[in-house]
Amino acid sequence: MNSLTDITHDPALRSWVTSANAPDADFPVQNLPLGRFRPKAAAGAEHHPWRVGVAIGDQVLDLRLAHAQCPWPDEIYPLLGLLAQDELTAFLALGRPSWRRLRLALSMALAEHSEQAPFLDLCLHAQADVEMGLPLTPRDYTDFYAGIHHAVTVGKLMRPDNPLLPNYKWVPIGYHGRASSVGLGGGVRRPRGQVKSSADAPPIYAPCRRLDYELELGLWVGVGNDLGHPVSMASAEDHLYGVSLLNDWSARDMQAWEYQPLGPFLAKSFATSVSPWLVSLDALAPFRRPAQRPEGDPEPLPYLDSDFNRAFGAVDITLEVWLQTARMREGGLPAVRLSQSNALDAYWTPAQLLAHHTSNGCNLATGDLLGTGTLSGPAPAQGGSLLELSQGGKQPFTLAGSDESRSFLEDGDTVTLRAYCQAPGAMRIGLGQVSGTVLPSF
Ligand code: MN
Repeated sequence: MNSLTDITHDPALRSWVTSANAPDADFPVQNLPLGRFRPKAAAGAEHHPWRVGVAIGDQVLDLRLAHAQCPWPDEIYPLLGLLAQDELTAFLALGRPSWRRLRLALSMALAEHSEQAPFLDLCLHAQADVEMGLPLTPRDYTDFYAGIHHAVTVGKLMRPDNPLLPNYKWVPIGYHGRASSVGLGGGVRRPRGQVKSSADAPPIYAPCRRLDYELELGLWVGVGNDLGHPVSMASAEDHLYGVSLLNDWSARDMQAWEYQPLGPFLAKSFATSVSPWLVSLDALAPFRRPAQRPEGDPEPLPYLDSDFNRAFGAVDITLEVWLQTARMREGGLPAVRLSQSNALDAYWTPAQLLAHHTSNGCNLATGDLLGTGTLSGPAPAQGGSLLELSQGGKQPFTLAGSDESRSFLEDGDTVTLRAYCQAPGAMRIGLGQVSGTVLPSF
C-alpha cells in the first residue's frame, strides 16, 4: 500500500458476493471494473439491449437496475443515471473526482454488511449467462512501441549490429492504428495481403503465412483535450480512465514488405482485440511503482517528466499469453502458457504515452484507445509475440506437454491474454482475459 490508496483498496475488505472473496478472483471488491454486457439470448430469440455493469466475483452488477431499484447517497444518482443510459462515454468524460466517488459508493454497496445488499442482490447476473460487448467504440486508436525488450529483440532480427534506433530512448514511438477493427476477439480471420516466398521473389496476394499476436495493454482515454492544447505530465493521468488487455494481431510477412518507410498498415489493421472490462487506474493504485531507467540512459525531456511519474508512473501488472491449438481442443487438453512478462518492463509510462500523444497539440477524445506496444520481459522465453519466441520463425518451438510446435499461428489456434496484479499488503486483482481463435483466410 502507498499514498495513492484509500479504504477501497483495504485488503481486509470482503464482499457479500462470495465468489469475489476467492483468493484467485480477478474481480474482488477492490477492483470494480466497468463493462458493457447483455444477457445471452436463446437461439433465434431477439438480443437483449446492452447494459453497463460492474464485475464482482463471477457476477455482473447491472447498473441500470441498481440505479432504479436500490437506494444510494444523493450525490451518486447523477453518476449512476449516466451509466443507466447503457453507455460509458458520458460517465468517463466526467473525470477522476466522479470516477472516485462512484468507486467508493460501489465499494461500500458491495462490501460485507452493506444495507444495500438485499436490493443489489436482485441486480446481479452470472457472468456465465451474459455476453460482453466493447466497453466503448473507440473513435481513434494509436499503438505505441514502449516495450524495450520487444524493440531490442525485433530490432536484432532486422539489424543485428544496431537493434535499437537512436530515437528510442528519447521519443515514444507509435503509429496510428485502425479503430474500426477493434473488437473483443472471438473469431479472427487470417488476413490476405502481399507476401513474398523469399527475399528476392516478387510478392503475391495470398493468405498471411506468418500470423502473430502481440501482448499489450490498452489504455482508455476518459477525459479528452482540445486541439492545440497539449496535456501536461502533471495532469496526464487525469485524462486516463483505465486499462484492458490488448492483442495487436500482426501479419509479419505483410509487415516486413510494407512497413518501410511509413510503418505498419494492412499488417495490423485487420484486427485488434481488447478485453471487455475497464480496470480503472484507481483500482491499480496499490500496484504503482517508480518509473525507472537504467543508469546512463537519457533523462526524459521535461514535457515527459514529473515527480509523480518518477514516484508512481509505472504499473506492476503480470501479463501472460496462453495458446490452445485445435488439436488440444479436440483432445480435451487445456491451453499452454507461452510466456509471462510484466508491464514494469515498459520503457515509457501510461502518462508519458498520453502526454507525448498530445504534445504536438493533437486532441484525444473520450474512448480513444492507446496500445502500449508489445510488453516482453528481458529473457528470451518472455517474448510477448511469436516473432520473438521463434526468433523470426527461424526456431520453431515445441508446445509444452504436446508434440506440436509453432513458429507462427495456425488456423484453429486460440490465443488468450491474461493479466493480474499482486503486491504485499494488497488484494490481488485481475484484468480478466481476451481470447481470439484464428479462422481460415477468406
Ligand atoms: Mn503492437
